[in-house]
Amino acid sequence: MARSKPSETPLMRQYLQIKEAYPDAILFFRLGDFYEMFFEDAVLAANKLDLTLTSRDKGRDDGVPMAGVPHHAARGYIAKLTELGHKVVLCEQTEDPKKAKGLVKREVVRVITPGIVLDDEVLDPKVGRYVAAIARAGDRFGLAYLDASTGEFCATEIVGLDALAGELARVDPREILCEDPEVRARHPGCVYSPFTPVDDDAVAAELERALSDDLRGLGLADRPLAAQAAATALAYARDTQPAGALPLARLHVYEPADTVVLDEAAVANLELCATLIGGKKDGSLLGVLDCTRTAPGGRLLRRWLLYPLTDIAHIRRRHDAVEFLVERASLRDALRRDLGHVADLERLAGRVSLHAATPRDLGLLRDSLERLPQLVARIRSASDRALGAPDLLAAVDDDALLAPLAELATELGRALVDRPPARASDGGFIRDGYCAVVDENRRLATGGKDAILAIEARERERTGIPSLKVKYNKVFGYYIEVTRAHLDKVPGDYVRKQTVATGERYVTEELAGLEAKIVAAQDTLLAREQELFAALCERVRAHTAALVEAGRRVATVDVCAALAEVAHTGGYVRPEVDDGDVIDIVDGRHPVVERTVPAGQFVPNDCRLDTATDQILVVTGPNMAGKSTFMRQVAQIVLLAQIGSFVPARSARIGIVDRIFTRVGAADNLARGESTFMVEMRETAAILAGATRRSLVVLDEVGRGTSTFDGVSIAWAVTEYLHDAIGARTLFATHYHELCALAQARPRVRNVSVAVREHAGEIVFLRRVVEGGANRSYGIDVARLAGLPRPVVSRARQILGELEGARSLGAGAQLDLFAAAQAPPPPAEPPVDPLRERLAALDPNAMTPVEALVALAELVALARSA
Ligand code: ADP
Repeated sequence: MARSKPSETPLMRQYLQIKEAYPDAILFFRLGDFYEMFFEDAVLAANKLDLTLTSRDKGRDDGVPMAGVPHHAARGYIAKLTELGHKVVLCEQTEDPKKAKGLVKREVVRVITPGIVLDDEVLDPKVGRYVAAIARAGDRFGLAYLDASTGEFCATEIVGLDALAGELARVDPREILCEDPEVRARHPGCVYSPFTPVDDDAVAAELERALSDDLRGLGLADRPLAAQAAATALAYARDTQPAGALPLARLHVYEPADTVVLDEAAVANLELCATLIGGKKDGSLLGVLDCTRTAPGGRLLRRWLLYPLTDIAHIRRRHDAVEFLVERASLRDALRRDLGHVADLERLAGRVSLHAATPRDLGLLRDSLERLPQLVARIRSASDRALGAPDLLAAVDDDALLAPLAELATELGRALVDRPPARASDGGFIRDGYCAVVDENRRLATGGKDAILAIEARERERTGIPSLKVKYNKVFGYYIEVTRAHLDKVPGDYVRKQTVATGERYVTEELAGLEAKIVAAQDTLLAREQELFAALCERVRAHTAALVEAGRRVATVDVCAALAEVAHTGGYVRPEVDDGDVIDIVDGRHPVVERTVPAGQFVPNDCRLDTATDQILVVTGPNMAGKSTFMRQVAQIVLLAQIGSFVPARSARIGIVDRIFTRVGAADNLARGESTFMVEMRETAAILAGATRRSLVVLDEVGRGTSTFDGVSIAWAVTEYLHDAIGARTLFATHYHELCALAQARPRVRNVSVAVREHAGEIVFLRRVVEGGANRSYGIDVARLAGLPRPVVSRARQILGELEGARSLGAGAQLDLFAAAQAPPPPAEPPVDPLRERLAALDPNAMTPVEALVALAELVALARSA
């Protein structure tokens, strides 16, 4: 008989039919105890997962390439593929192979993509996992992002590619649905997946179906791009879950301008969630703040930090809650202990909703829900004595929300054993006394096993074989094993089945009969437990929205308690926020750096900015003096105040800011292949375009990436523009002393410097910010500290002396610049002068510093000889 081609067997036809719908994903096709992959999927998986590539029909040239993983180990393999940016389709056998006539039925139960993962071991508990969709019309963008594990779903509209990039830097989606090449180029380093855009006329229906509200109710009526993006994200996520419903509760539509706008650079430079070098949470601001006890608390705190508020009443509500818990240490401790026992309600509800929950998940849900009444009671009793708990904490005390959940917990408590197993398929999780069928069959199954033990004892007695054993295997079920030495004592009613090295194996009618009963009882038991599990999941599913909401309120308590804990241990104070123009910080500290220096050695500093009088601080001082630390600390204190946190200072008054911009010299963007100077200027341009009178601007060493003359000129002009045209409160660090002259040229510019002291030829960093500009740069001193050889250092001092001599002779660039700032210089015929001619021939842009010094020394010589 001619064999059909391997790819045309019924099984392969079934495979190909399913695969057709998922051309861009790797299909995990369940075959017995394995997930098999075929064709290109097999080749790719074998390569990425280090599996052996075989063929379904060994020895044939047209054999189908195949690679497989055991089903119980699939989780790790799937995780590896999705973390590498692939999509995995899970196809299961959906009928019992024993009962199937012909080919076993198979169906896709779930698609796992980089952005849509439900596996606890892959998800970072304290970070949302988002898939985002972007729609574009000209310069306007709709952005929507969805965390399928919790149902968190947000949408907004944004103008401009830079602003979109800033928002993407905050959201940090793992996977983006967007075909626009400009967006992809502007925000690289993320998986862009193929997708089917939702037709314009289908958008409304798609959203309505999932969120049971129309576009107007959702806040999308006049935001067509946000609606388009939301529908696309939703359709994509929905298609990954053919078996379950996304745990969606609501769509949060927001305006970027409702919170403090942070650009990409600010998120990175202020090290909000990750350090600039290494990208670690440890060492970031979030690293200091995050002592939340729950995963949703951790995620919410991250959200608070990335979206500081601008609404004063809202900010004060948060401060009230934090203050309440700062003042009540024992309440705070007790709440934090309770919270430690509350699992991730949002993700648990999500997994149940998506049919991905295990008995262990339901057990965790029950245990967590059982903790809530105590947590609520603590807040309630604390507020009885005071005037009432602050809103944010009191919100958790909501009977309408919690009573049905308490009932659910009771039901789960009755149904499930104390510590349910991680797999439903093994059974053993329904508590005795919950269901008569379970109890009866469990009794029969265990009773049968007891009966078998009794048979073993009886047969030993009867035959006089002390080593006789009743054992079990899958092939003959229960059997009796007798060792070689005792074979002569075997009674006639034993039926011999198998000879093994050590003896013989027998079956008896009695054993066979018992076994049938045990198997039947076990089958019934298992089937009943599955049914009950499905019913329990269904019950939980009916409460998805309430669980997510309760989870959110508990998370808020957790965040407030964490901020209170940080405030308490770190000695933070409640800042005063208002809508004035003043930022006045007394004895401010850098929340991260103060933890890295030995205790008591961090030097606190004041900072006063006032749009009306002290708008711009020019910060000078040698390298390593502490300029960046000072400036970042001001920005971070403002930010902390506006997320509702206390701040590391003796006192702080913050006239709220609408945007924070930073431009910090060190952050090269070599990854994008642009020169440092280009990036620096682009960022500076974005600041000048985006800053308002209410903004806070932090500039560190603008103009460093070019020649000195260009650099000073640009830095000068930028500062003037911030002063004259924008009016934003600004901190500007520079090593160009020339810029100190700006304080004379413009009324709202002040000079401060980070003080150093010279002591016996050494320089000592005092870390104190004082009024007035630094009078010299101490660059050579720092160079010496850094270990430059002694002869080089003394030669540098000598050259410096010569240069300074030249400058005082030539009237100095400072005065020229000063004059230029007052009024444009009148055009004048330059007098012919050899010095001038020689000067005019120089191209500072093309010179190395050493060449510049040599040329300058020549000029000095020329000037002196004249
Ligand atoms: P600059 O920007 O002037 O080059 P940095 O702000 O980077 O200097 O500070 C250099 C180092 O000095 C920091 O890493 C920190 O260890 C220390 N430092 C800065 N400010 C303080 C301070 N106020 N108190 C104690 N140490 C500080």
